[in-house]
Amino acid sequence: MEIQHFSHHHPLKLKPVDPSRIYGINCSACGRSCLDLVYSCRECADFHLHKSCAELPPKITHHPFHPFHPLPLVFSGARYACCGCGQWDSKLLYWCRECNFTLSPDCALEPTSKYEFVGEGKIQYFLHKHPLALMEVDDDDICSACKKCCSSESYSCQHCPSFRIHKSCAGQLPRAIQHFSHPQHPLILRAKDSVFDRPCVACQRSDNVLTYRCSMCRIEMDPECALMPTKHLI
Ligand SMILES: [Zn+2]
Ligand SMILES: [Zn+2]
Ligand SMILES: [Zn+2]
Ligand SMILES: [Zn+2]
Ligand SMILES: [Zn+2]
Ligand SMILES: [Zn+2]
Ligand SMILES: [Zn+2]
Ligand SMILES: [Zn+2]
Repeated sequence: MEIQHFSHHHPLKLKPVDPSRIYGINCSACGRSCLDLVYSCRECADFHLHKSCAELPPKITHHPFHPFHPLPLVFSGARYACCGCGQWDSKLLYWCRECNFTLSPDCALEPTSKYEFVGEGKIQYFLHKHPLALMEVDDDDICSACKKCCSSESYSCQHCPSFRIHKSCAGQLPRAIQHFSHPQHPLILRAKDSVFDRPCVACQRSDNVLTYRCSMCRIEMDPECALMPTKHLI
């Protein structure tokens, strides 16, 4: 089967990956390796698309992270960070030009997914690059999400001693919230990064690892403040 995909100027043909290729091939959109069926260009030796990447829906509307405008699928020459998870992997992005708001295909299609099991009892949490395992914790270990003590079951990273998260926090922290102090836009759960380093707009602290962010207004709120129940004064 041949298709003309908007990301490439030649037609692409669907075929199984040639097992004799020593180095394997990577998808020109998401960068991950191609294992079974792949759309390849016959004229360019190095342009390939996963079947799943080539067949992404051309537009997402009413997305919970960005309900205001439709998000068309674009192919970008450069890589951009996804506003939903912070990853830079995909050149195929859902993009609101007006707000400069980007979503990776994963976040666009599965906005509620937080982790998946990757074998040996480990999980791949959407805001951490390494798999996390349930491990014994010390009494003074702090959860990267809620900043409370990790006395209950928690996932830790073998590579990053400072990253650990309660089993309950990994499963229950909402990926986007509508905060009363910023009703215009959803605040989206992200890992902090140095590119966008601001203190929490409520408490002014900046020692949190995860953050709720409006990337359009450059507002950060740590999960503790963002999810705090409203105080009733009278
Ligand atoms: Zn791909
Ligand atoms: Zn080509
Ligand atoms: Zn994403
Ligand atoms: Zn927009
Ligand atoms: Zn926690
Ligand atoms: Zn790690
Ligand atoms: Zn705060
Ligand atoms: Zn905003």
